[in-house]
Amino acid sequence: MKRLAYAEPQPHTLCMTMDVDCGVNDVTAVGGRQIGVEDLYAAPTFERALPRYLDLAAAHSVPTTFFMVAASVSTPERKVLLRRMAQAGHEIACHTLTHPKNLGHCDAETLRGETAGAKRMLEDIIGAEVVGFRAPGFFINDRVSHALREAGFRYSSSVNNAIVYNATKVLFSLGRQLSRRPNAFYHVEPGALLAPGYPYSQHPASFWRRSANGGLLEIPTSTDALRLIPSVTFALDLMLPGWVRERFLRLLIARSSLINIVLHDFEFLQASDFPSETPLPLTTSLMTRMDPARNSARYCLVAAAAQNKRRIPLKALVASERADGGAKTAAARDHA
Ligand SMILES: [Zn+2]
Repeated sequence: MKRLAYAEPQPHTLCMTMDVDCGVNDVTAVGGRQIGVEDLYAAPTFERALPRYLDLAAAHSVPTTFFMVAASVSTPERKVLLRRMAQAGHEIACHTLTHPKNLGHCDAETLRGETAGAKRMLEDIIGAEVVGFRAPGFFINDRVSHALREAGFRYSSSVNNAIVYNATKVLFSLGRQLSRRPNAFYHVEPGALLAPGYPYSQHPASFWRRSANGGLLEIPTSTDALRLIPSVTFALDLMLPGWVRERFLRLLIARSSLINIVLHDFEFLQASDFPSETPLPLTTSLMTRMDPARNSARYCLVAAAAQNKRRIPLKALVASERADGGAKTAAARDHA
């Protein structure tokens, strides 16, 4: 029986990741109107935010894992950019096809399309295997875990067991649901709160339990020792005053032997990226008004370089015992 193994990183390793959501399948209320967020964000994200981040990542030598929503990579220019990112040493990973926040409750066919289908689309674009997956809103359950193994993913980075973050997410979702927006509710799977905070192999029968027999590797989002606050940088920017979040991140980065940080595309947008008459959702106007030099996402890039952390994409944490790793799916290997 062949199993996926977890390559223990050297001490003080940092994995920078970015969820490139583009607002796909999301709407927001602006000035009493509901508008599709993708219409606002997708073009500025690919034309401004990603190039801006790529310059910063190059300046600080930080290879990054980009979790892409496959449906958003819809034009020849975007496909070229994705190939260039992969060629530059970044990892292209999968963040579903259309970013459904209820992924674990989708019907079987939709779930396959959002996992295996999206994986194939991204692989066709970059011409290489896509091995990593992150669930929208960090909502993973056993159905999703099973679909990921079936699709041949080798790792997931979908567990976020920070208590304050999940509580805030539920309250925020309830508010959004009261305004009757579609795809508004961020689900929380209680089991995820009990999952280990370090990389572990998901048990085939319950994703949040560690399996001693290998299986799909889960690389959770890093949190503080009390598991209150995750290293999801936009949440830090919205939840904490500047000096607290900087201190939090400095300690987290300095003390963690492995840290998995989650950035988002919109943290690298600026108000000037949008036509002046564009009404922006509240969180975006808050984010774009922040001093760009002081937001948490940029702070992490600078701190990683300053502290001389080893910087690798998430896929470098996955090791296969099999020399032909990738030729067969993880599921096939598990059952071989
Ligand atoms: Zn997302």
